[in-house]
Order: sequence, then C-alpha cells, then structure tokens
Amino acid sequence: MSEIGLKVQPPAEKCDDPNCPWHGHLKIHGRYFEGVVVSDKGKKTVIVERQHYKYLKKYERYELRRSKIHAHNPECVNAKVGDRVLIVETRPISKTKSFVVVAVTQRAERAKGV
Ligand SMILES: [Zn+2]
Repeated sequence: MSEIGLKVQPPAEKCDDPNCPWHGHLKIHGRYFEGVVVSDKGKKTVIVERQHYKYLKKYERYELRRSKIHAHNPECVNAKVGDRVLIVETRPISKTKSFVVVAVTQRAERAKGV
C-alpha cells in the first residue's frame, strides 16, 4: 500500500482472498475515491456512491454529481451499508468491478446489538 502513498490502516483481520489488496496478489494503481457504501448485497461486492462536484463552465458554478461504483469487498475489510470507504482502481476483477475497497475510513453508526 505504501507505494501509492495512501494513509490507511491495514485491516485487523486476515483473509485468503486472492483479490485482496492486503493479503492477495491484487495490484492497485490509478485513481482512488472516498465514498459511502449503498449496497452490500453482492458476494464480496459493494456498491459505493461517490459525490463529486463538476464545474459547469457555461453557468460558472459547480454541480453536485453522484456516481455509483461497483467495488470488490475483501473479507478482511468487510464494508457494510453506510460505511465510508476508500476505494482504489485496479485491474478488472469482474465484468463490472475494477475497484477494490482498501479500507473503511468511517464505520456507519449502528444501533447496539445489530
Ligand atoms: Zn484481506
């Protein structure tokens, strides 16, 4: 992780997922984004919503855009809906996934016992 200069803590748990950036052979490169998990229903897949501002020259103002990105969710990271996560671009893992969740930067507030 250090080679791309991301200041994130390695997960406390270990996994044997070959597509894990920490414990597998996955090489990460390129762009990275922070976003919020909006779906964790897929197997080792989450959908992350990213908000970003796009400058509209015509109107000389910024417009809030949202985009949804499918990302691989390794077992050791185990991101859940509502978590704020850091995702990094990687080689395509499947047809729809070319990003991987490297860390949860902020866990969602959850009721006790859930
Ligand atoms: Zn792992």
